[in-house]
Amino acid sequence: MPVPVIVLLCVLGVIVLLCAVCAIRAARIKKTLPDVKPAVQWTAEEENKYAADLSEMVKIPTVSKRQEEEWPDFALFQQKLAELFPLFFAKAENHDVDGNLLRRLPGSDPKRGALLLMGHQDVVPAEGQSGWEKPPFSGEIADGCVWGRGAMDCKSTVCCELEAIEALLREGFDFKEDLWFFSARNEENSGGGSDAAAAYLKEKGIRLNVVLDEGGAVVTGMFPGMTAPASGIGVVEKGFVNLKFTARAEGGHASTPPKNTPIARLSKFVAEVEKKDIFQKKMVSPIPEMFGCIAPYLPFYFRFVLGNLWLFKGLVTRILPAVSSMAGAFVKTTAAFTMSGGSAAPNVLPDEAWVICNMRPSVHQNAEKSIAAIKRIADKYDIETETLYRKDASAVTDAGSEEFRFLAQCVAECLPDTVVTPYMMTGGTDSRRFETVCDNVLRFTPTRLTPQQLAAMHAANENIGVSALAEGVKTYEYYIRKYNA
Ligand SMILES: [Zn+2]
Repeated sequence: MPVPVIVLLCVLGVIVLLCAVCAIRAARIKKTLPDVKPAVQWTAEEENKYAADLSEMVKIPTVSKRQEEEWPDFALFQQKLAELFPLFFAKAENHDVDGNLLRRLPGSDPKRGALLLMGHQDVVPAEGQSGWEKPPFSGEIADGCVWGRGAMDCKSTVCCELEAIEALLREGFDFKEDLWFFSARNEENSGGGSDAAAAYLKEKGIRLNVVLDEGGAVVTGMFPGMTAPASGIGVVEKGFVNLKFTARAEGGHASTPPKNTPIARLSKFVAEVEKKDIFQKKMVSPIPEMFGCIAPYLPFYFRFVLGNLWLFKGLVTRILPAVSSMAGAFVKTTAAFTMSGGSAAPNVLPDEAWVICNMRPSVHQNAEKSIAAIKRIADKYDIETETLYRKDASAVTDAGSEEFRFLAQCVAECLPDTVVTPYMMTGGTDSRRFETVCDNVLRFTPTRLTPQQLAAMHAANENIGVSALAEGVKTYEYYIRKYNA
């Protein structure tokens, strides 16, 4: 039976009405960043001092180690920090845990809570990376940048935090709130320093109002069509899982291969995981809040969609993986096959072959559920699944919390040309360990990074801008000052 014209007209009317509502909303949410002076300034002399201090820190090769006896560089590094920041190291109480720095600057008002600033001392190795234009532990200052392994990740964070605290101590600032500083020497190899420090605080019955660690930074091109830089404050970290998939068979000679050899089965399995969308797509906090922050600064067509998530949330969730791999990682678990092995010779069929998969479980599909989803595919090809390491996503700090909004406001005042937004970290930090003693774990260093600098993290030619460093110091100083008001 043909659909009556009146029904078609009604449907058309509803579509036109929805489009009109969305267009009006998209037009209304448009914003431009305020043309105001930043709340912080600094002198050339200060800029040079910060760069020189960071350079000294970079020169000490604090590469992550597992053995205690291999750690003399960390003692040197800590000695260097005490030289560079004498007031802080003289005044702060020593609560070091297993060689990881944990210090407390007591506040003058015992009724107030505590703030913890953190950043790790260790760095990933630079060996075997070609393309370093300056030696990785030279700490050279050239072309307006400090160069070397750790210049950005994460000695710049440590440098900014300590410079800010030291400057406040120099002027006799009244720290009302307890200020804790933590710096692990084994963050890059998940060595457990932060676990020990969090356990220590918990045992002492200490609750922290806020933990501020590395994580987000000030970056450009955060989303297609976004011209303003974004100050992304990490409020959650995805999980981390390593799986080993092993396929077995009778070996044999490569001249007479049977069907379905281990490598053939693994190949089919890997291809199916990549082709099929096996993980649940869902838009959970802080992604809607992030779109709420950035949509006003996007072109109209993005505002039309992202500014009307009440209507388009389902559609956006489905199409985000097609926008970019980063956008896709915001709404689902990811799986990357990173290592593989088979027989020992080109003309020998393997008895067993294996691949390693690194997964980053989402908040809504935790490690256990994500492993179950991929194991179902492995079972189809008679492949064994072994879990080598698993960690769920961290807790999500509420982007509506007072602590988040306070930091976001300070950042907006110090870096008014940037869009401040909560965001989901696809990588990890050790700040999540402090969830046991803090509800507000935030991950952000207020330094501007170019795309080259972002790409150089854990890679060759790591560096940070001298003026970005100064802006970072002054923003921390502003934040601590206001926090203690
Ligand atoms: Zn780091």
